[in-house]
Parts: sequence; structure tokens; C-alpha cells
Amino acid sequence: MKLVIASNNKGKIKEFTELLKPLGYEVVSQREAGFELDVVEDGETFEENSAKKARALFELSKTAVLADDSGLEVDALNNAPGVYSARYGGEGLDDKGRTDYLLSQMKDIPEENRQARFVCTIHFIKENGEEISVRGECKGKIGFAPKGENGFGYDPVFVYGDKTFAEHSAEFKNSVSHRAEALKLLVNKLR
Ligand code: IMP
Repeated sequence: MKLVIASNNKGKIKEFTELLKPLGYEVVSQREAGFELDVVEDGETFEENSAKKARALFELSKTAVLADDSGLEVDALNNAPGVYSARYGGEGLDDKGRTDYLLSQMKDIPEENRQARFVCTIHFIKENGEEISVRGECKGKIGFAPKGENGFGYDPVFVYGDKTFAEHSAEFKNSVSHRAEALKLLVNKLR
């Protein structure tokens, strides 16, 4: 069965392919399937955003589809940046700019209050229209300075165990991440 992913991100497509192939799905990106989808991610929750993207793609493709949404929640910032993770601090910033902005917002917060979590929601719509929604989380802490070269986004300041996600290997991160967690939950529900 064909499964169209509401993303063109190579890393995400690879992860989804590896985990969903054993269930009999042939995973393709929306571009490979011939769809250009540009949905405004204006939901108040990750669940709203991933559902909105999946439903828009299902309308076009009428085959099984999957959409995800993800971001970082920091306890001491009332769960910010949350659904605004990709544009935190203003539209003009890159990953490094957003990470520096996050550190500046947290400069007076002591070690013991720096808990955070990455969140990933996945919305899956089966070929018959049945919808499944799951949420994966990965708990860590925000460090005091960026460390490491791997990964992307907030990885250099997200401390998991004794290292940041940018210091851990990709294999390790992909085995414990919010996306891995959400995918495991989805695979269990599809089985
Ligand atoms: P999206 O789900 O691709 O829209 O990602 C939203 C934003 O959340 C990204 O631009 C990153 O800033 C952040 N983010 C999501 N997942 C990760 C991760 O695994 N590491 C670091 N940052 C992440």
C-alpha cells in the first residue's frame, strides 16, 4: 500500500520508511507523489497542526497519508516555544539564532528548573479514511551553552542524560527521540 508523507524532509522520510515498511507500506514524500502542499501551521496544539496537514493531503491523494508536527516545550517558559518552535524569536532567525534566543530567555533560570521536552505528534489517515493520532515525548533539560555538532534545531542545547542531542550519535538520538516514540506508538496501533 502506498503511504504519502506530508513532508519533503529526507531525514524524516528515511525514518518513516524504515519503521513502516515492515507493515507493508511503500512510503513516498508528497513531492514524489506529485503533490505540493503548503498548509499554514496555525493550530494551538501539535495535534491540530498534524491533523490539518494530514487531512489536506488526504483530500488530494485519497491514499493513506501521514503528517507530523514537533517542537520543544520548556517548563520554566510556560511550555514555550511549543508550536512556535520553528519561528521562536522572530522569522529572520536560523537554528543558531533561535538557540541563542532561547538561552537568553533562560539566563536567570537555575539548573534545577531547566526541565524541557521535545514533542512529536503524528496523524495517520488510512486509505479508508480512518484516523489515528499519537504523541511521543522525550524529556531532558536545557543546558547553559550550545554543545555538539550533530542533529539540527535545538539539539545543541537539549541535554539528554549527560550530553546534548547534538553530542549524541544520530543512531542514539533516533532510538530515544520524540519522533521515535511517536512512531513506535503508531506502529503498535496499526498492528
Ligand atoms: P517541524 O515539526 O518540522 O515543523 O519542526 C518544528 C521545529 O521544532 C523545528 O524547526 C525545530 O526547531 C524543532 N525541533 C523539532 N524536532 C527537533 C529535534 O529533534 N531536534 C531539535 N529541534 C527540533
